[in-house]
Amino acid sequence: MSFELYSVRMVTYIYKEFKTAINKLKYPDSWFWARYTANPYSGCEHVCIYCDARSQRYYLTQNFEDEIIIKDKFAKKLEATIKNSRSLLRDVIGPGGICDAYQPVEKKVKNTRKLLKILMKFRFPVNLATKSDLVTRDIDLFKQIAKDTWCTIGFSVSTMDEEIASLLEPRSSPPQARMRALKEIKQKAPEIQVGTYFMPIVPYLEDNYDQIEEVIKESKNAGAKFVLFAPGLTMRDVQQEFFITKLRKSKYRDIVKPLLKLYGNNSEKNELYKYLNQMNLKIYNLCQKYGLKTRVKRWIPSDYRKWNYIIAEVLLNEEYKNTILGSSNNKMKWAGLSINNLDESIINYFKRGELKRLRNFSNEIIEFVKPYLKRGEKDRDKKTLDRFL
Ligand code: SF4
Repeated sequence: MSFELYSVRMVTYIYKEFKTAINKLKYPDSWFWARYTANPYSGCEHVCIYCDARSQRYYLTQNFEDEIIIKDKFAKKLEATIKNSRSLLRDVIGPGGICDAYQPVEKKVKNTRKLLKILMKFRFPVNLATKSDLVTRDIDLFKQIAKDTWCTIGFSVSTMDEEIASLLEPRSSPPQARMRALKEIKQKAPEIQVGTYFMPIVPYLEDNYDQIEEVIKESKNAGAKFVLFAPGLTMRDVQQEFFITKLRKSKYRDIVKPLLKLYGNNSEKNELYKYLNQMNLKIYNLCQKYGLKTRVKRWIPSDYRKWNYIIAEVLLNEEYKNTILGSSNNKMKWAGLSINNLDESIINYFKRGELKRLRNFSNEIIEFVKPYLKRGEKDRDKKTLDRFL
């Protein structure tokens, strides 16, 4: 394990070797479709005051914004893992995950660029979320990845208001710069699926109709294909303390009380639920108005997982729609998530009449996915015939 220490201004950078370069998720994430995450850095210089990565569930032990750990030999480790692992199936990787892969240190260290070169070499699809316009430096690599397999880049935006953004996201690229970067990617590499990750949306600060419409309109004007949105924010342990302390010191201190009431233990049980439902519907309708998708189109492998992933996407998108309409019951979610992990094609289960063995595959769900199963059956039969001829 090697350590090297140096300081620039108030931030300390620490080189440290880690055993692993990639983390496999139990289920592919149904928003970003990532199966793996790969974090070139630990800690984030962007210092967003609402950042969820501060919460204890991520076990980041250092001072989150002032001590940035640069993962030493990161790309080499990733390459060795991909080469040596027999079980690592090609699937979507989300570089960054909980710490922005294009935070300022990347300009010099280039851990993310090196990571992308490895992903390009082994043809792994990529979904990247960032608040930095530095991402445009690597358009060449993203473009090639999109041509070879699949690439999505989403800009994380919570408001277009520069003053609010400078409080909430003080060291990220300003929102307008993120939109310019989105536009540049769209123009230079139309193969890349680009859009906005509109989250978090701080209640009482960023949630009025005009503010929301501005984010959606700017996204549309910049060339976004989708706006993936999530109103509200997480309010967990250390993260909540940090956020509320900063808000109390700001000119927006008046929102603290209603915000804590909305998220607090003493709040009306359904107050937050009602708030999120109303917001979901409002934002969804605005996306419809601007002709923007609210889901990311998924990468589909060409091996035995093909129809598992297609049908999982259908189920998970339907579950999402039900959530927006306030009628979700989670059944589709678990059915969709679990078929991502099958070790054979769902079409085999269909042919053997064994669909009921799959988690949550009730008669209702089977009826719902039947048209896709039939298409999948034809698709597989056609391939068999092609091989035969
Ligand atoms: S850019 Fe993302 S990871 Fe970095 S501080 Fe902001 S929210 Fe956290």
